[in-house]
Amino acid sequence: MHQSNRSLLDIDRDHLIHPVTSFRGHEARGATLLQSGKGMWLTDMDGREVLDAFAGLWCVNVGYGQDSIVEAAAEQMRRLPYATGYFHFGSEPAVKLAQRLVDLSPDGLDHVYFTLGGSDAVDSAIRYITHYYNAIGKPAKKQCIALERGYHGSSSTGAGLTALANFHRGFDLPLRWQHHIASPYPYRSDLEGDDAAIIARSVQELKDKVAQLGADNVAAFFCEPIQGSGGVIVPPVGWLKAMRQACDELDILLVADEVITAFGRTGPMFACEAEGVTPDLMTVAKGLTAGYVPMGAVLMSDKVYQGIANGAAPDVAIGHGATYSGHPVSAAVGLEVLRLYTEGGILANGQKVAVRFDAGLAGLADHPMVGDTRGRGLLGAIELVADKGGKTRFDPALKLADRLFAKGYENGVIFRAFADNIIGLAPALCASDAEMDEIFARIRKTLDDLL
Ligand code: PLP
Repeated sequence: MHQSNRSLLDIDRDHLIHPVTSFRGHEARGATLLQSGKGMWLTDMDGREVLDAFAGLWCVNVGYGQDSIVEAAAEQMRRLPYATGYFHFGSEPAVKLAQRLVDLSPDGLDHVYFTLGGSDAVDSAIRYITHYYNAIGKPAKKQCIALERGYHGSSSTGAGLTALANFHRGFDLPLRWQHHIASPYPYRSDLEGDDAAIIARSVQELKDKVAQLGADNVAAFFCEPIQGSGGVIVPPVGWLKAMRQACDELDILLVADEVITAFGRTGPMFACEAEGVTPDLMTVAKGLTAGYVPMGAVLMSDKVYQGIANGAAPDVAIGHGATYSGHPVSAAVGLEVLRLYTEGGILANGQKVAVRFDAGLAGLADHPMVGDTRGRGLLGAIELVADKGGKTRFDPALKLADRLFAKGYENGVIFRAFADNIIGLAPALCASDAEMDEIFARIRKTLDDLL
């Protein structure tokens, strides 16, 4: 059939493979096509307006329809749409963006490698770490440790650090050098209420895992400062600092995966900042360009950079890179997005409206379906349980997460509904107090509808 005679939805079903979506499920259900957005609001192809409480996929942190970003991209496309970073070429926006990131990030992260997104950033970090240990004459140090419930993207190596079952199932992952320790998950811990004990247990588990693998074989510990896709798990304050200290004692690198938490999502510009932590490598993406165009980055300490630099002959290229690394249009967008966070006041607005967000979360705690609410900055979760006292999860056969998402959409709010019935929230930092209240009113109605 000629394309013009078929609906977009039929074409989508027949030809477009959607990320992290059941093929058969999608054939049956089809897509919801989004048409436009402004601020916190999205409009779908049926003209329905919905409040986006998830900033796209935790990325559109400055909201939709920011004209200055569009202008920055158009101006760069007109002037120079592409410049390779290969062969010692470069472009003005990529250089300026690297400088901005070095200036804004925790002291000690002095070098920036641009990637195409978060998965590529995690993969690049793994590649650089491997290169680093070979270069400094410790080639056995290759084992990597991450957290259960962690998410580090879906590349063929990084997905092994991800500890969510459907990213491993059918893909022969994780690989032999990827290991996991328990997530610091206060609500589901027998130590709930004793933050110091939760932190001490994580530190001990990392030490035990390193001892089991042999200290000379372990390269790095990867973690999200707050776990996102695992269900927005907020560790106790001080956890990251303690893990930094443990990594130093164990002589392993700390990689902070700030793909979600960077750029004001948890309050400060970077989540590491709140704990006074400088990781050896930091991965970022999402909020860097606020979802307007793809881009990520690896920020690297001078120690790792110098180790790699000293280990290679000056005339031999370090064979890691991509055609679009440091893409000038993405970099121009990144610069404008960072300007909006800082001089544009969006970071400050996010910190202000986070008070309302917190109140909204707390206000749902009395709901009969709500077992736990948690959050930091504008990253939060509402964990639903069948029985508050016993923290019993709902029967998976109920497929509550699917129903929650559908009902939420019907009520005009988009959030993430994780399979174990955790509602994930990550509204844009440009939200008003009134929009924040509206988000929580719509979520309450959604829960009431499903009671
Ligand atoms: N790391 C973390 C912590 C993430 O949350 C994500 C994506 O959600 C990734 C890595 C992968 O990023 P991307 O989807 O841009 O490849």
